Amino acid sequence: MKNLKDILEYAGIKPTIERLSILRYLDSKHDHPTAAMIFNEIETKIPTISKTTVYNSLKLFIDNGIVTPLYITGSEVRYDFATKPHHHFFCEKCGKIYDLIIDCPYMKKTKIQGHQIKQRHGYFRGICKNCLEKEEKAQS
Ligand SMILES: [Zn+2]
Ligand SMILES: [Zn+2]
Repeated sequence: MKNLKDILEYAGIKPTIERLSILRYLDSKHDHPTAAMIFNEIETKIPTISKTTVYNSLKLFIDNGIVTPLYITGSEVRYDFATKPHHHFFCEKCGKIYDLIIDCPYMKKTKIQGHQIKQRHGYFRGICKNCLEKEEKAQS
C-alpha cells in the first residue's frame, strides 16, 4: 500500500482530506472513472465537497504527474492513478477501460527518432471479453 500522504507532500501538495480521499479512490478502484464518478463517490464520504474542489484537485494531480488523464473515449476525460506506464483498452459497448499489461519496446524509451518523449499513451478500442461472452451467450 502506497503512502498517499507522502506522495502528495513529496509533490509539494498540501494533503487535505478531500485530496487524500480522491487519491484513495483512484488507488483502490483503478476503474478509470470520470470526474463526475469521482465526485459522486467522494460525496458519500465528504458531503461538503464541491465539484470545483474535485476538478481543481484532479488538475493539481495531473500537473504534478500524480494522475494521468485518459482521452481514450473521445468524449470525456477519465482518470488513472499514475503508476507504471501501461496501455489501455476501451470497450465501445460497456464503456469500461481496462489496463493492458503488454510488452512495448517503446514504453521506456526517452527518445524516439530524435523526439524527446514526455508522455506515453497506448490506446486500443474494441469489444471487451465480458461483452463478447454476453454476445455469444445471447446467440446460442
Ligand atoms: Zn465491454
Ligand atoms: Zn490504467
